[in-house]
This record gives sequence, C-alpha cells and structure tokens, in this order.
Amino acid sequence: MRKITIAIDGYSSTGKSTVAKHLAKSLGYVYVDTGAMYRAVTLHALRNDYFGEGKNDVKTLINDLPKIDLEFIFNKESEFSEMYLNGENVEKEIRTLEVSDYVSPVAEIQEVRIKLVEMQQKMGEEKGIVMDGRDIGTVVFPDAELKIFMTASVSARATRRYKELLDRGEEVSYEEVLENVQTRDFIDSNREFSPLRKADDAIELDNSDMGLQEQFERLHGYVLRLIDKQ
Ligand code: C5P
Repeated sequence: MRKITIAIDGYSSTGKSTVAKHLAKSLGYVYVDTGAMYRAVTLHALRNDYFGEGKNDVKTLINDLPKIDLEFIFNKESEFSEMYLNGENVEKEIRTLEVSDYVSPVAEIQEVRIKLVEMQQKMGEEKGIVMDGRDIGTVVFPDAELKIFMTASVSARATRRYKELLDRGEEVSYEEVLENVQTRDFIDSNREFSPLRKADDAIELDNSDMGLQEQFERLHGYVLRLIDKQ
C-alpha cells in the first residue's frame, strides 16, 4: 500500500499528539511530535540560564545550536518514541509548565526553526509519517497528502492541559495553565517566521466535544479514502 504524509497542526493542547499517536500506530506509520523538539531546545536554554526570569540570551542559544543533539528513541514498553537531548531521556522534563512558559519565545527564533524544520523534513523523506506541530502543513510538508487543523475552545484546552499536569504531579493552578495556553496561542500565531495558521487545503477539526475514539475514526476515515483513491 502506498504510504502518505499526514500533517496535523493546531493550537496548544488540542490533543493533536494523542490522536496522532493512535493514528500512526494503527497505520504502522512513524509518529513525530515536533513540539517535543522545540521543548527540548527550550530545556537546554533554561538549564544553561540563557532564558528564565529577566533573561533572554538568544545569541548564546543560537551559538549552541550545533551542540544540541536531538533524537527520538522508541520505548518498547510505552510503544512510543521519547525525546533525548544530548543522549539524555528528557521526555518528562520537557512537559513541565516552566518549559511551556518559555517554549514559544524560543520557537520564534528563526535559526532554531531552520535547524528543526530540516531535521523534520529528513524524518519524513520516506513518507509513512504522522507529524504534529504548528507549521507542518504550511512549511515542513506543504505537499502532505492529508492536512488536519485541530481547534477547540480555549477552556476545553486549558482544562485538558491542567488535568494532564496534575496527573503528572505538578502543582499548578487552572488560571496559570489558561494563561499559558492563551499566551502561546498568541505568540505562535503572530510570530514573524512560520506563524501558526491553517493551510488552505487543511481539514479543520473542532474537537471541543469529541472523544478520542471519534477523532481517531474521523482521521482514519480520511486516510482510508485517500489511500483508496491512489
Ligand atoms: O505541541 P506543543 O504544545 O508541545 O508545542 C510546544 C510549543 O512549541 C508550541 O507552543 C510552539 O511555540 C512550538 N512549536 C512550533 N512549531 C512546531 C511545534 C511546536 O513553533 N512545529
């Protein structure tokens, strides 16, 4: 069966990665969470004090880019790939609210985007990939056969992210999480390079009131229809 490229973009906490992971698994495709890559670069910047309260050392972060090694390694137990930063598994560390607070300013840096987009395009050379992020259908794979743009109300998204962080044992308030989601949406949609926008040929999916199974079936249906046509 011919393999296709599936690009899933959308606002923060729309549940892109959950449905993308399931779709990739059911199709036997590779799944790539590009947000994890931007988060890992952000973790590097925070650990080295380039970013943080009152700090914004973009220049040193850019100089460090050739030394930042990012790799996804498949975890047999969870059956999903995890993010490694310079050989260290940082899957947990990159999901904290602190990283979420600084990731959008880091993702605005053009040099960071150039490096990560190049890596992402290489990962997708063979097709058979589901990639999620903010610029996948517009910049990374403008020729993707299937493009999805996911949206949901801001309260539905903040509630999901809040529950996720509490489940991971983080002490956060709903208000903090809501503010983070709104701020990231604003920066991601208004930045100069590759802002978040729906590709003209993307299918919009509002999942405010949709469970995972329903979203999965929708996307799986689109894929089957596309593959049938080929
Ligand atoms: O998907 P996730 O919420 O983990 O992404 C974290 C952040 O990384 C986003 O808010 C955005 O600033 C950035 N990002 C991006 N382009 C992508 C993926 C993520 O700018 N393709």
